[in-house]
Amino acid sequence: MNNGKGESRRASVPAPPLDRSRLSVIVPIYNEEETLSELEARLPSAVECLGFEDLEFILVSDGSHDASESIICEMVERDPRFRGVFLTRNFGHQAAVSTGLNYARGSVVVIIDGDLQDPPEVIPELVDALERGADVAYAVREKRKENIFKRFAYFAFYRLLSGISSIDIPLDTGDFCCMRRRVVDAMLTLPERNRFVRGLRAWVGFKQVGVTYERAARFAGTPKYTLRKLFALAYDGLFSFTRMPVRVIQAIGLVLSTVSLLIAVGYLLTYLIAPERFPRGFASLIISIWFFGGVQLLCLGIVGEYVIRTHDEGKGRPSALVREVIEQEDSESMDHRSAPEKRANALLARSAPGESHAS
Ligand code: UDP
Ligand code: MG
Repeated sequence: MNNGKGESRRASVPAPPLDRSRLSVIVPIYNEEETLSELEARLPSAVECLGFEDLEFILVSDGSHDASESIICEMVERDPRFRGVFLTRNFGHQAAVSTGLNYARGSVVVIIDGDLQDPPEVIPELVDALERGADVAYAVREKRKENIFKRFAYFAFYRLLSGISSIDIPLDTGDFCCMRRRVVDAMLTLPERNRFVRGLRAWVGFKQVGVTYERAARFAGTPKYTLRKLFALAYDGLFSFTRMPVRVIQAIGLVLSTVSLLIAVGYLLTYLIAPERFPRGFASLIISIWFFGGVQLLCLGIVGEYVIRTHDEGKGRPSALVREVIEQEDSESMDHRSAPEKRANALLARSAPGESHAS
């Protein structure tokens, strides 16, 4: 990102003025029935003052099975700036955000959580940073109002990721950000399926700046990221953006095999020079077999993780499927698919979810 030479060259080329024709705000929603009305009250009023000609709020329902989807339909009816994109099942937060990016038509695009932990009132500061010349303004969490275990886990994860990652992923940032169209277009050209959005955002480059904010507590409801989903996210981050685990096991393998070779030579010499001092005993043998067996399994697991990811990409499945797009009939449609595609999608809604047709 920002480093010496590139920065000074960039500084002499002023960034293009911010195009304020349309602001798209992408909000992933998974069973957020308790927060939607507050979101409806706070989100538009936070961005109306920013001088965009047009606003669109894309609520991506990630297979919600509470009242969220019917509430979203009511919101669309009340205010045509709201649009709903309903996925066929729960594909996960990152897939929901990625689908939202596909549908966003804004010249400026914001990604924000639906539980109001990312306060919509911070969006003007992010847009300000774009106005001053940035292409991406990402929100950096200053304080988190979460339990100590979660805070520690996030703290450790971001430092581990940044320590071993092959690209510069900023610390303590989530997906809450504001991007110029050209950044979104660049992200959309990346075909990978395991989408770790904040990693892809860092990978595409451009001029990125952090804006600190205080992360609020959830407005209502319980976290939708289960421990399993958090681990899956951490895995996506670590294995999609690092080669370090494989390098580490290569180094461990090299060190262990060199050491064991030296020990073998030592034993051979002992056997030849002083056979009476040649060590006997199974305990050390068994321990070393188990130890090296463990190390080998661990290494295989790490290599396997990369193989799984290659396999996933090889299958070429989309990261999520869209069941329905909800928008007011008279508004300019953001559903850019062709009529046969839409029909196929409608059929899909009635048949088995999770099969055929990409978003
Ligand atoms: N979310 C989603 N799909 C999921 C899990 C979460 O779309 O499978 C949404 C959720 O509704 C919320 C955002 O992603 O708007 C962040 O989720 P959550 O608040 O549970 O995560 P945390 O803030 O605990 O990291
Ligand atoms: Mg949250």
